[in-house]
Amino acid sequence: MQPIAFVNGTFMPLAEARVPIEDRGYQFADGVYEVVVARGGKCFCLDEHLERLRHSLTGIELPLDLAPLRLPELIDEGIRRCGYPDVMVYLQITRGMASRDHVFPKAADPTLVMTFKALPKYDPALRARGVALMTQRDIRWAKCDIKSISLLPAVLMKNRAKQAGYYDTVILAEDDTVREASAANIFIITGGAVKTPPRSEKILHGITRNYLVAHAADWGVPCEEVDFKLKDLLAADEAFITSSTMNVMPVTSIDGQAIGDGQVGPVTRRLAAGLDAAG
Ligand code: PLP
Repeated sequence: MQPIAFVNGTFMPLAEARVPIEDRGYQFADGVYEVVVARGGKCFCLDEHLERLRHSLTGIELPLDLAPLRLPELIDEGIRRCGYPDVMVYLQITRGMASRDHVFPKAADPTLVMTFKALPKYDPALRARGVALMTQRDIRWAKCDIKSISLLPAVLMKNRAKQAGYYDTVILAEDDTVREASAANIFIITGGAVKTPPRSEKILHGITRNYLVAHAADWGVPCEEVDFKLKDLLAADEAFITSSTMNVMPVTSIDGQAIGDGQVGPVTRRLAAGLDAAG
């Protein structure tokens, strides 16, 4: 078992993988990405990830027909080659290599990079206890639905939260509307119903989020996609965040204030169990 990379058509050990410094991903963060999780060799919601990748490519005006790249087959091969039972697949497409110029190059071939690593394991104590988040204003760009590799604002926010002793951040609009976490979507539970901000350009349309919205009712929990404010989050019975690598992570306090009774709640547990069972 070893981490594997795929760079423009070739698989290799991750440590040997290189991209030229004039790649526009390096110079301008001119690219988009996906993170797909495969448990027991099977990708979760791969079609949905590839659909979001198409949306992101369109969003940065990078016309690229994905079909000839045979991404599902390449991803399967990478998963087999790395040999880990549970794999985190990182896929990145940039506008390619060209002499540094803001204007799109006329003839650059997009760079396709993938990495295949062991899926990071979350400390079970975190999921049992829940995590603490810290609020911060949204300093990201206006198109958060595009999964851009330009992640510096999210990096800064996550690190500020970490340095202050929190697990992550809750990103807030100027009017205190709750957006999401640095790399996860957010949900609250009030009176037995679950709520999450609606799809818009203000948040990433998380694959885990979308799956939960589609299936919460199957697990006996009504779900609504609706904006809510910080005061609603603070008054909620329960809260949690979601991402492909974490699934559900319970949130038990915000800025030091307990959510509900400060314990991981029963609805969060039910939804987490539903998602874990789904893959
Ligand atoms: N929101 C942001 C800003 C993210 O970066 C991510 C994942 O990277 C998510 C939400 C969760 O998305 P997904 O469930 O597709 O992993």
